[in-house]
Amino acid sequence: MTRKIKIGDIFIGGGERIAVQSMTNTKTTDVDGTLEQLRRLKAAGCDIARCSVPDKASADALKEIVKGCDMPVVADIHFDYRLAVAAAQAGAAKIRINPGNIGDKKNVEYLAAFLKERGVPIRIGVNGGSLEKRFEGLPLDDAMVESALSHAKLLEDCGFYDTVISVKSSNVRACVSAYRKLSKRCDYPLHVGVTEAGIYEKGLVKSAIGIGALLLDGIGDTIRVSLTDDPVKEVHAANEILKAIDLYSGAYAEVVACPTCARTCIDVKGIATAMQEYASSLDFKLKIAVMGCVVNGLGEGKDSDIGVAGGKDKSVIFKGGNIVRTVANEDILTALKEEIESLRKNF
Ligand code: SF4
Repeated sequence: MTRKIKIGDIFIGGGERIAVQSMTNTKTTDVDGTLEQLRRLKAAGCDIARCSVPDKASADALKEIVKGCDMPVVADIHFDYRLAVAAAQAGAAKIRINPGNIGDKKNVEYLAAFLKERGVPIRIGVNGGSLEKRFEGLPLDDAMVESALSHAKLLEDCGFYDTVISVKSSNVRACVSAYRKLSKRCDYPLHVGVTEAGIYEKGLVKSAIGIGALLLDGIGDTIRVSLTDDPVKEVHAANEILKAIDLYSGAYAEVVACPTCARTCIDVKGIATAMQEYASSLDFKLKIAVMGCVVNGLGEGKDSDIGVAGGKDKSVIFKGGNIVRTVANEDILTALKEEIESLRKNF
């Protein structure tokens, strides 16, 4: 079990639910634009958001951003511990910085004491693409683990243990291996993600494999899907990964649909898409199946709460594998919604 750490009003680690993170891609100095993006991220299901703080103007802007944002904001800092101090003063709920990169030991001591006093944790974010020279020659996974632990040791020497660690790489295999090794070497909560994953589909696949494999191993306390796209899509993808392996904490309705084939009798894609939209307004756990034929559809949709299996002119609506209605194909959507409304009363 990892140690529990408080980030603003959210706990991560120690068996808490997996928190979803993302990162703004607006200029942090653009307070209104950043707040608008943060609002969209929150609405999509983001728990914690990170903003880059590359300069003093960004640290100053962060104050307004933290004030206007109703989720914990993490400041992303590179090299300059004074910016980390300024970001914490601005109200950042966590600082992402690598203590080994901020120069003199005194800087680390000062920053650790400053953040400890304010209860602000640090995320050590090791990136496989920017490792210290002294780890050259080691396999990538080992190099990332040793780098992360050496940064953590600098904080431990200052009595600072409010640390979260990530060891990200665009190489999924090395990334997963590094997290697995790291989880055996420390009890810090792990922020899991595959970095520079790429544009949409490519990034989704890499993230789903990397994050999914680790979560299935019980590794990971908070996740970020990195996409070269609107960060709201990162949050949607992260939530889908959690749902796919039953780690999503909220109640939600999901639609499963058959892939269609020559036996398909109804517009599976159209009905599934319409039901997906309808399901997004449901706030109770429900599995809805849209199956193209009765030949295989009834059996394959058995583990759903409700579903339709298509027939030539008429289709069957089933609940828990039992047929409850036969309806004309043009009435499928209406019938499904009526049956779901009757199920809603039981929740
Ligand atoms: S449920 Fe029926 S229509 Fe859908 S893929 Fe299976 S056999 Fe084909």
